[in-house]
Amino acid sequence: ENGLMKKIVSHAKEYGFVFPSSEIYDGLQAVYDYGQMGVELKNNIKIVWYKAMTQLNDNIVGIDASIFMHPLTWKASGHIDGFSDPMIDNKDSKKRYRADVLVEERAAQMEAAGKKDEADALVKKLARLLEADDLKGVQDLITNEKITCPVSGTSNWTEVRQFNLMFSTQVGSVAEDSSTIYLRPETAQGIFVNFLNVQKSGRMKIPFGIAQIGKAFRNEIVARQFTFRMREFEQMEMQFFIRPGTEMEWYNKWKESRLNWHKAIGLPAEKLKFHDHEKLAHYANAAVDIEFEFPFGFKEMEGIHSRTDFDLANHQELSKKKQQYFDNDIDPVTGKAFGNYVPFVVETSVGADRCFLAVLCNAYTEETTVEQTEEGEKVKERVYLKLHPTLAPIKAAILPITKKDGLPEKAMEIYNELKYDIKVTYEDKDSIGKRYTRNDLIGTPFCIAVDHQTLEDNTVTIRHRDTTLQERVPISELRLKIRKETSW
Ligand code: ATP
Repeated sequence: ENGLMKKIVSHAKEYGFVFPSSEIYDGLQAVYDYGQMGVELKNNIKIVWYKAMTQLNDNIVGIDASIFMHPLTWKASGHIDGFSDPMIDNKDSKKRYRADVLVEERAAQMEAAGKKDEADALVKKLARLLEADDLKGVQDLITNEKITCPVSGTSNWTEVRQFNLMFSTQVGSVAEDSSTIYLRPETAQGIFVNFLNVQKSGRMKIPFGIAQIGKAFRNEIVARQFTFRMREFEQMEMQFFIRPGTEMEWYNKWKESRLNWHKAIGLPAEKLKFHDHEKLAHYANAAVDIEFEFPFGFKEMEGIHSRTDFDLANHQELSKKKQQYFDNDIDPVTGKAFGNYVPFVVETSVGADRCFLAVLCNAYTEETTVEQTEEGEKVKERVYLKLHPTLAPIKAAILPITKKDGLPEKAMEIYNELKYDIKVTYEDKDSIGKRYTRNDLIGTPFCIAVDHQTLEDNTVTIRHRDTTLQERVPISELRLKIRKETSW
């Protein structure tokens, strides 16, 4: 399936979806830029997420917090002490690896060689060592298994060390005043530190949620698989604040609701699955991933975590500011108000870039059709992006079939009328067939052809991307029709 992934990566570049960052300088590892089509698709994904959260739920509001936060934030959240991966360097190739990934890859090789039991035992042993923070043990595992560097082929390793994934920088202009701050590794903390601001100013009543879309940064050791694992990426997170004791109910509700969202943006049910965490993060008492079947296998796209009061309680302790809520609902057991407490949190956290990649991989379609012609069978090949119309970068292309007889003017008139409401383009270069193909490649659901009949009766043809079928429609009905089919 690597062949398929290669095709998708080059398609993404060729048609303006994703470019390697700073490509003229040979790129920057694990950093990518979104091109003219990519930015539209990604924005549409973000809009649909934000709308699902804040518009379809009357008790969820948005915020936009800063990337820089007070350094104590990351002490409270556990990121300074606990947000690290075990790394190891090969002394000959000078290449750095994630020690746990090296062992996992060895286990995968064993499994491929039919030694499933041995592979399972190795993975279990690794999990136990990581759980116990036993770096020496992980190192022994690498030595005992005679794992070699894929580049140098030697097993001349350094010791295994913890590598913190946070990027740091200095704030302040003069050396004496400057202090270390971090680029946020998750957007969630911007929500936690604003919990009371939002609750009070918005007079929010528990249960309620705060949603946010924004950049996050992680100095990933192993950066591979295109935009799946980047050093700069975007998260769409929602923290749902609840009464302690109700977390399992909300956890299950959000699991279901988030899975449905992925289906609603066009990802097929059979390519989505839940994966329960065996090893829970330091902040969680229940956690599940929604995995998508990428061309390189089922991999995490979203995490749903029951975070208890871990974050708010730690912020309360470090900031010395109460992070409590007064709940005046009546507890049926005691007959009194629930009163003051630090709320529990269930979070949903999805990577905008991983979601984008899932949508792109799923949309990429190679189609071979056999047409019966007078000269016999004709095989036709077509590549197109079968994007959900709501997500498509361009909703409709307005195309005069020739460049004369007043057709461009008529088409331009239609374009100018639709563009205020709908993302449309106007194109008159090349044959109509070539223009259909170009629009298929970027996933435009509708091509609107303006021909001589249009001048007579004010109708146009709409060509549908997936079926290539055409229908005749009055210009006056275009706006409503396209809006209906591309709304969500
Ligand atoms: P992984 O195990 O793949 O490193 P994670 O479990 O650390 O991911 P979370 O901390 O739960 O990820 O972050 C929530 C979401 O943010 C992930 O499900 C993913 O979609 C996205 N995400 C995390 N790290 C990256 C990254 N390096 N590049 C792109 N997206 C990321």
